[in-house]
Amino acid sequence: MIHDLTLTEKEMTRFGHRIVNELVKHFVSLPDKKPVALGTRKEMDSLFLEEAPKEPSNIDEVFDFVMDNVFTNTNLVTHPKSYAFVPGPSNFVSVMADTLATGFNTFSGGWNASPAASELEIVTINWLLKMFGLPAKKGGGLFTSGGSVANLTALVTARNQKCGEDFSKARIYLSDQAHSSNVKAIRIMGFKKNQIRIIPTDSEFKFSVNKLKNAIARDRLEGFVPFCVIASAGTTNTGTVDPLLDISTVCKDENVWFHVDAAYGGAAILSKQGKKLLHGIQKADSITADPHKWFYQPYEMGCLLVRNHKWLGNTFTEKPEYLRDIEGNESEINFYDMGMQLTRRFRALKLYMSMKSFGLDAFSKAVTYNIKLAEKVEKILRESPHWEIVSSASLAVINFRYNPIAMQLVEKDIDTLNQHIAEQVTLSREAILATTILNKQVVLRMCLINPRTTINDVMETLEQCESYAFTKLENSMCI
Ligand SMILES: *Cc1c(COP(=O)(O)O)cnc(C)c1O
Repeated sequence: MIHDLTLTEKEMTRFGHRIVNELVKHFVSLPDKKPVALGTRKEMDSLFLEEAPKEPSNIDEVFDFVMDNVFTNTNLVTHPKSYAFVPGPSNFVSVMADTLATGFNTFSGGWNASPAASELEIVTINWLLKMFGLPAKKGGGLFTSGGSVANLTALVTARNQKCGEDFSKARIYLSDQAHSSNVKAIRIMGFKKNQIRIIPTDSEFKFSVNKLKNAIARDRLEGFVPFCVIASAGTTNTGTVDPLLDISTVCKDENVWFHVDAAYGGAAILSKQGKKLLHGIQKADSITADPHKWFYQPYEMGCLLVRNHKWLGNTFTEKPEYLRDIEGNESEINFYDMGMQLTRRFRALKLYMSMKSFGLDAFSKAVTYNIKLAEKVEKILRESPHWEIVSSASLAVINFRYNPIAMQLVEKDIDTLNQHIAEQVTLSREAILATTILNKQVVLRMCLINPRTTINDVMETLEQCESYAFTKLENSMCI
């Protein structure tokens, strides 16, 4: 290695092949690995902490060190037994596509720099617009780092369109089950706490339309300006879809922006059942989708879709002198004018190549499989005397808890028991399983969006949970 940071052709080939070989090995042997990483800061410091190295090292030694120490100390979220949070099932075609995009270091900001990259973003955004029933010609959108930035971009656009410069009296509405990235975005945008209206959900964790209407009416009486409602199409906790059509009607009547955060559940539109559940999403002014979740793309890839592409241009176009010369034809989109980033990586390529290679039908089948898998798990749990369903399978998410009917445990002990189960599973490193809180109860949650997760995988994990519960109850630790 020399001063211009190059390798010889031979070295590049050898090094590149080593990496591809390791990735292939990883994909093939994934089910045999343990997905949980358990490193403390102290342990990681002792592995990695050093001064920036002045002298070169042998490239193979660096690579071996990374394989031995880095990827053995990260959760494997593509693992079939990764159930917690929102897993990242990913797919190999997109992994390679991302590698290509990085290799060419394609600048996906302006049309002139890479017309084909811009065109592929237009084409894939159009595919998504059509899927969600937004107007394909007038509509627009862009890819972002993830759902959080897509939500922020949507809300900045909504505010610009509805409030202009003065948003001192503006109010925004979301449910208590809306994703935290929304409140984060609203706070980043400089809204005060009292401009955010959190509307309680009903007993099924759905946005209460009646409470929404009351809040809007009351705020108007008090001189506030309602400007945006955020609905969830698949809450992260329970996969619950808000009453989208009803909310869209309220928004239309009240002249309020209708944003749908479909970062979790958006991909369900590809299945028959999901499409039905998501009905009403086509009325949205803006939709956040998150291809790096259930569209099976590797990180990072979020997406914002809007009903009218001009809204993005109106909100994000600034024209510094040095960009003036490269302004092209109106129809040749500069994506730096549509959102926050100027320099943008070529995210569209992975969605494009994976959808072309596998075909949309394969994606639909995978999503349908995931939804059905969660329903199957629900049925099995309902038929067991040990388990209780806390929220039914919805868009591949299910919440349940260990609560054997024969035992008559009190709430506090059921919480302790389920917390214990999750902790023991984590310590075993066999599955990524976590608890969440619903109705003030500690519950186990499975998000089954990996198309390579089998019912067998789930059964193995449930049996493991049961054995921890038995032992704990036998020792009568909590009773
Ligand atoms: C995951 C998620 C987000 C945030 O998306 P990131 O890609 O993690 O930034 C926003 N909303 C919902 C509903 C989500 O599930």
